[in-house]
Amino acid sequence: MSDNLLEIRGLQVAFDGFRALDGVDLTVGAGELRFLIGPNGAGKTTLIDVITGLTRPTAGSVRFGGQELVGRREHQIVRLGVGRTFQTSVVFEELTVLENLDLAASFRRPLWSLLRSRRGVPETVDKALETTGLTALAGSRAGVLSHGQRQWLEIGMLIAQEPRLLLLDEPVAGMAQDERARTGELLTQVARDHTVIVVEHDMEFLRRYASQVTVLHEGRVLTEGSVEQVRADPRVQEIYLGR
Ligand code: ADP
Repeated sequence: MSDNLLEIRGLQVAFDGFRALDGVDLTVGAGELRFLIGPNGAGKTTLIDVITGLTRPTAGSVRFGGQELVGRREHQIVRLGVGRTFQTSVVFEELTVLENLDLAASFRRPLWSLLRSRRGVPETVDKALETTGLTALAGSRAGVLSHGQRQWLEIGMLIAQEPRLLLLDEPVAGMAQDERARTGELLTQVARDHTVIVVEHDMEFLRRYASQVTVLHEGRVLTEGSVEQVRADPRVQEIYLGR
């Protein structure tokens, strides 16, 4: 057995004959923080959608911890330990930060535990508060959070579900500089206990926080390597950096 948590082979997705993914092979080791980049339409979202069971591929396999994910439903994949953020917010504005985290954590708890008398905060929720730096805001309504704090809450809501793999879609989009730095630190910290795949375009952010980068282009993996390696690749400069 290898230490690879995720092994994707020959993945194809066709929409009315158009191949959004055209033979993607991708291997991500346990504990990696992997960045996924590529121009608009490269297939990044489609790839995340396939991993999480939202889109069914026309061919190929997605093995996660040795189990095949293709053919499983979304909620089964969540149960196996794959969590993702969406570009649209999933935060309940009327609930507090703590309540949002508790609710997210409950999705992976057995149903009976929802009826339990409240005996304090589950450990996973505590950990999510601490990791995201939101402890002081635990009692605040999510509706009053800044854009950055809301993004961290969403990451916290994933952590509270104790996934093994986190898929994050553009976590620093729309963030101010100080919030980006905080998010970079947060991702680095989250990757100590989890495997993380981040779709991100921001080159400055990648330069600071990415070690391994995979470049998608026209539904295929164009190249992989360190930020320096992929930036130096003339094909990457042409399709992505040379805009
Ligand atoms: P990225 O996330 O890298 O910008 P996407 O995965 O969203 O790329 O899209 C890849 C290609 O697949 C694009 O050309 C897009 O128009 C197409 N596509 C994505 N979803 C659908 C769909 N549901 N139906 C038809 N075409 C789609």
